[in-house]
Amino acid sequence: MGVDNPSVDRETCLSFDRQDPLAWLREEFALPEGVIYLDGNSLGALPKQTVPRLNEVIAREWGNGLIRSWNAAQWMEAPARIGDKIARLIGAKAGEVIVADSTSVNLFKLLAGALRVQPGRHFILTETSNFPTDLYIAQGLVEMLGGNHVVRPVERAEIERSLDGSVAVLMLTHVDYATGEVHDMRRITAAARKVGALMLWDLSHSAGAVPIDLNAAGVDLAVGCGYKYLNGGPGAPAYLFVAEGLQDAMQSPLSGWMGHAAPFEFEPEYRPAPGITRLLAGSPPILSMLALEVAIDLWLRVDQQEARRKSMALGDLFIQQVDETCRDLGVEVVGPRDAAHRGSQVSLRHKEGYRVMRALIDRGIIGDFRTPDLMRFGFAPLYTRYVDVFDAVHGLREVVTSRAWDRPEYKTRLAVT
Ligand SMILES: *Cc1c(COP(=O)(O)O)cnc(C)c1O
Repeated sequence: MGVDNPSVDRETCLSFDRQDPLAWLREEFALPEGVIYLDGNSLGALPKQTVPRLNEVIAREWGNGLIRSWNAAQWMEAPARIGDKIARLIGAKAGEVIVADSTSVNLFKLLAGALRVQPGRHFILTETSNFPTDLYIAQGLVEMLGGNHVVRPVERAEIERSLDGSVAVLMLTHVDYATGEVHDMRRITAAARKVGALMLWDLSHSAGAVPIDLNAAGVDLAVGCGYKYLNGGPGAPAYLFVAEGLQDAMQSPLSGWMGHAAPFEFEPEYRPAPGITRLLAGSPPILSMLALEVAIDLWLRVDQQEARRKSMALGDLFIQQVDETCRDLGVEVVGPRDAAHRGSQVSLRHKEGYRVMRALIDRGIIGDFRTPDLMRFGFAPLYTRYVDVFDAVHGLREVVTSRAWDRPEYKTRLAVT
């Protein structure tokens, strides 16, 4: 779409929406009236089909089926079945992805498994600005292992030259949560493998935002989040990926019965299940799993290249409108201006970013805030319209010029920003 045209007006945005090949998808989501939702990168919107599906699962499968549903309603297969569906979205094979736990817990399992298969290598190499939970989990694991390993966070520019034979695993987040900057997955994965390090990608801000091909890039391990662009619901289960060739060597430190070769044999000794199933620990949260499945089924109907094209165009439009209308307002675009290097989000810096975002949210323009001064706007391509982007930037201008943010109640930070 011609969003690089310097004078895009509201009418033009409406015409972009009319021509949008993904416009039909917005109807698939239950979005509240009067809200411009630009936080689907943090909590995806509710797919309409999730409501009847969960009602059915609760009333029929749980209510009537009771324990029989573990077999009759294929509850037991849900983690692997939904994993296979997610595999199709991230360039993995069936049997390489499973849905389980949270991203944090999956990081713990995969990092611990990775260190076991890399004896003599002491470093978990990562990036200083990685998402905090990724760093915290690595720190906790290393501490538990009693001092034989070290977490080594380096600046982005230092990552590749810090790779050598002492690195057990390189753990990176593909799309930076704060700036939206995208790592070159192929190049970095190849560099890690060249020195014999395992490559672990966190796809939390990638799946549903940028096309991913884990197998083509030769990735060993990956984790990702179900509740952001994938729209699985608040606290939705996460997923993990282990390349086929690595699965037999991987052992989970959380050797629970769901990852046992024969859970219903009730053997006293742990024996890992073959394949990806060994990465399960305990019983899957069926209600959340099946809500996630509705969202993934919807994603499987979407042309991902088309979604990427739209997300790039929405981000470009946003930046162009900010440049045009918010110049001289102390608002600065952070992170890549080139859509090819950007995920599906744009961050703006403003010294009163927190209060400006609170004022925007009170006007129904929902983004979020990341410390110290970043306002984050996500452009989930399945339900964000071009006109939403236009209206959001004009709302931002109004909030900043009218000082609507300068209210005492916005001084106190809420628990979730
Ligand atoms: C959102 C996100 C997480 C979330 O972890 P949870 O354990 O699901 O809370 C982890 N890593 C990254 C990079 C994220 O963006």
